[in-house]
Amino acid sequence: MDQVVGRQSLPDSPRTFGFFVDGKRMEAGERAYFERRSPGHDVPVTRIPKCTREDLDLAVKAARRAFEDGRWSRIPAVERANVLLRAAQILRSRAAELAYWETLENGKPISQARAEVDGCAGMFEYAAGLARTLHGDAFNNLGDGMFGLVTREPIGVVGLITPWNFPFLILCERVPYILAAGCTIVAKPSEVTSATTLLLAEILSEAGLPDGCYNVVTGSGSVIGQAMTEHLDIDMVSFTGSTSVGRRCVEAAGGNFKKLGLELGGKNPQIVFADADLEDAADGVAFGIGFNTGQCCVSGSRLIVERSVASEFEKLVAAKLAKVKVGDPLDPSTQIGAITTTAQNTTILDYIARGKEEGARLVCGGGALDFGRGHYIAPTLFGDVTSAMAISRDEIFGPVLAVMPFDGEDEAIAMANDTVYGLAASVWTKNIDKALNVTRRVRAGRFWVNTTLAGGPELPLGGFKQSGWGREAGSYGIEEYTQIKSVHIEIGKREPWVR
Ligand code: NAD
Repeated sequence: MDQVVGRQSLPDSPRTFGFFVDGKRMEAGERAYFERRSPGHDVPVTRIPKCTREDLDLAVKAARRAFEDGRWSRIPAVERANVLLRAAQILRSRAAELAYWETLENGKPISQARAEVDGCAGMFEYAAGLARTLHGDAFNNLGDGMFGLVTREPIGVVGLITPWNFPFLILCERVPYILAAGCTIVAKPSEVTSATTLLLAEILSEAGLPDGCYNVVTGSGSVIGQAMTEHLDIDMVSFTGSTSVGRRCVEAAGGNFKKLGLELGGKNPQIVFADADLEDAADGVAFGIGFNTGQCCVSGSRLIVERSVASEFEKLVAAKLAKVKVGDPLDPSTQIGAITTTAQNTTILDYIARGKEEGARLVCGGGALDFGRGHYIAPTLFGDVTSAMAISRDEIFGPVLAVMPFDGEDEAIAMANDTVYGLAASVWTKNIDKALNVTRRVRAGRFWVNTTLAGGPELPLGGFKQSGWGREAGSYGIEEYTQIKSVHIEIGKREPWVR
């Protein structure tokens, strides 16, 4: 990966984007735009079209045409793979530009955004391989007169709704797999972070993706997102976002019983045993809550720590958090950037206030950081947290860590499972039996042992309980976008029914 060198400057004026349908940039004309201000600097950076339901219909029609005429769904998989590999190359060559717009809209540190783009290219490369290895099954054991086949077919037109916390990474954990399966896409990014989803349209066209296979309709969730989940000509929606909006998607999808992939919220435990390498664990726990300003579905926001080391460990984590560099997202040395939206900033500060009111002990952080402009919050640690407190139950989606001590393995597991969510969990211990036991008994779709937030294209993503349905990425990621057909083939002549 190229290193980000020096601090890039802010754009002189906001960049105006079009939306993207049937291989063409669509000019928004006189229609209204969303103006996005950089959360780290509070200056306008992008103008994004407010699309309408009619725009969505155009995009769905284009995606439907492209799917039905077989320009993508029926070509040899090797050709699909080649497009995905070319896209990965272009993506790497435009990584600095993608990272820049991601940082400006989202507020994440530029070095992190750059690393994420690199990871995205890896997703395209891996999915290219999957396109070629996707296969069904054959039954050669049905007797002389019958042969059985099970084939996988692309599910059709996929609506893709993404959130603002990892706009490009989450997009690229889905798009290459959906395309590898032979489906076509209508994407709707979050209204506050649409730029890189639109830039991907240019990249895919340049890579040779036929027109109509990747369309982007920008706009609000309540208009475009809702219309997508209700749309009768979309076969599946992959939704990533909050559990409350996910529930609305389930209700709206009933019209045509479209399949839903749901990647939702989490309140993820970090379980630390006394026998762990505490220095390493403290660093991991600080990373788990500080990364992406805690605006991360898999943030380790509940620290469940063995009572005998709780006080020592709390101090270790607080010392790490105090050293993390919070600041200008465009500074290459920044580790924690800005809070992405004003509303999210208010939500996090409200939870911090509530933690104090409910009697939790503030260990470090505890409020906003003033850099003259933008929204920044100090990584915050609360001790003496009980399971009744809101900061231990709700997904805050910010850099706020709740510490709760445990006595014994069973209690640690019970506390970890005491949540409606089941997205992710980590365990820190040097004892292999404890590590395996906890891994098996904690109900979460992603699990880390002596590390946290590790990822990549090979291992699937997804949640248990109210954290969602289905899996993205890995070989499961492509399979989600296929459906199964069973084929019985008569060899010779059927036994007549009418005699
Ligand atoms: P959100 O639910 O508010 O919005 C997500 C997307 O849904 C946006 O594009 C939004 O415009 C759209 N939307 C809003 N209303 C809609 C509706 N009625 N119908 C259809 N779409 C609608 O979430 P957010 O605030 O953007 O992101 C934060 C949430 O996302 C957190 O809860 C976080 O845990 C979750 N998340 C989950 C994962 C995962 O993989 N499980 C990953 C990232 C984020």
